[in-house]
Amino acid sequence: MLGSMMQQPLLISTLLTHAERHHGEQEIVSRRVEGDVHRYTYRDLAARARKMANALAMLGIEHGDRVGTLAWNGYRHMELYYAVSGSGAVLHTINPRLHPDQVVWICDHAEDQVLCFDLTFLPLVEAIATRVKTIKHFVAMTDRAHMPASSKVPNLLCFEELIEAHRAEFDWPIFDENTASSLCYTSGTTGNPKGALYSHRSTVLHSYAIALPDAMNCSARDSILPVVPMFHVNAWGLPYAACMVGARLVFPGPWLDGKSLYELFEHERVTVSAGVPTVWQGLLAHVEANGLAFGTMRRTVIGGSACPPAMTRAFQERYDVQVLHAWGMTEMSPLGTVCTLKHKHLAMGAEERLALQAKQGRAVYGVDMKIVDAEGRELPRDGKASGELLVRGPWIIASYFNGEGGDPLVDGWFPTGDVATIDADGYMQITDRAKDLIKSGGEWIGSIDLENIAIAHPAVAMAACIAAKHPKWDERPLLVVMKKPGAELSKEELLKFFEGKIARWWTPDDVVFVDSIPLGATGKMQKNKLREMFKDYRLPTA
Ligand code: AMP
Repeated sequence: MLGSMMQQPLLISTLLTHAERHHGEQEIVSRRVEGDVHRYTYRDLAARARKMANALAMLGIEHGDRVGTLAWNGYRHMELYYAVSGSGAVLHTINPRLHPDQVVWICDHAEDQVLCFDLTFLPLVEAIATRVKTIKHFVAMTDRAHMPASSKVPNLLCFEELIEAHRAEFDWPIFDENTASSLCYTSGTTGNPKGALYSHRSTVLHSYAIALPDAMNCSARDSILPVVPMFHVNAWGLPYAACMVGARLVFPGPWLDGKSLYELFEHERVTVSAGVPTVWQGLLAHVEANGLAFGTMRRTVIGGSACPPAMTRAFQERYDVQVLHAWGMTEMSPLGTVCTLKHKHLAMGAEERLALQAKQGRAVYGVDMKIVDAEGRELPRDGKASGELLVRGPWIIASYFNGEGGDPLVDGWFPTGDVATIDADGYMQITDRAKDLIKSGGEWIGSIDLENIAIAHPAVAMAACIAAKHPKWDERPLLVVMKKPGAELSKEELLKFFEGKIARWWTPDDVVFVDSIPLGATGKMQKNKLREMFKDYRLPTA
């Protein structure tokens, strides 16, 4: 027997309609690329998103077409989040920190039709504009007064002119909730980046989950400042959850240094924030050096990389800001776990609590997880056994965009590439990483790309790139190189060889020459052995 409830598709446009109707006066504050602070309300957001939906239709964007963005966290980006997905097209957020060659590859792969960008990224857009194959229109996200006087970008349109030219009347279409809504590329463990293609249904369900009290704990009484970029996994879903709960939003634009963030937190009375540890390091250093305190900040979500206990201690004990250590990944929309206490933990001593908070936390409802051994057998949840972490749930990918890389699932579970323990209370802790990527300041560096460049040097026989610990960036690339017999090569020569071939921040921090690199049974380099060998390695930059 079927239940007799309404069938209403879970659509992203309904989040905006709800926010407009029930929280129309709620404010959205943005520090703009133009240098000033912009303020408006959810009511304004909704009206402008509808105008932009009309503009996109005029530009020929149809259901399912991809619209790319290269933009910071700000109200215009937010308008695109709703205008694009709400009208049935797919918002493709692009990471501007990638090398221009990668941006071209990603735009072509996604077959973007339009690219909207913040003025900061004009040089990048100029570098790619004549190379990308499918983009018909480029839109500078600014007003007429700030449009570049001359530019090498063909068909350059002005965002504000598009908005002004269109009516605010637009009926958000109703369609299947499984329709694709947004696309975000992640660095593939092997080969090219792969796209995670989210749906309306997965996005709305994820929003419910992240807003819960034991997750990011968002409400209409909060003022949320997402530091985590809207170009990386949709700022962890906050632009959607904020509409769902009617929270005030504060966007930092490109100003992500400690001083700028602190001033914005204080001036705008921010209560909740979210970002990677590197960002918080900058913020804490500024607050500490200037003897400051947080007036309104209550919680901050820290994830993307492990949150060091010293950081949790500083936030909580010195500044009375609760740390919510969280874990997730692009393939998971991203939220998987958050470390919040259970009732029985409330009586814990400070040190014990810090040790618990070093864990990545408990699964939010909707995410099922388990750890398995090398043969795929499930391991006990005893906090000791460690194995590869597998996940499943309605906001976890079933396949990559265009089926790239084949079926990623193992018996219906997505292998995360993280190695973890899970304790009897369900708290998961990452102990290692099976995947070979390097995470620097919350951004991925592909070890394979670096190895391929190194190996192209005539003096190099074999090269492995692994993550070495770094106090500021968490991890930085360390290149382990075996030279060809009799070949002469210095570290400096090899590092110079990388110039121009990758984004500069991808350049390895150090090179170590070794006599041999350990190989496994199938002839693959055993990077886990190298990681073990170099686990205490001190980089010259550290
Ligand atoms: P991304 O797809 O860029 O969001 O990166 C996801 C990956 O980042 C995960 O698979 C982990 O390897 C790593 N990660 C995310 N959050 C944490 C965390 N709290 N602690 C340790 N690693 C994390």
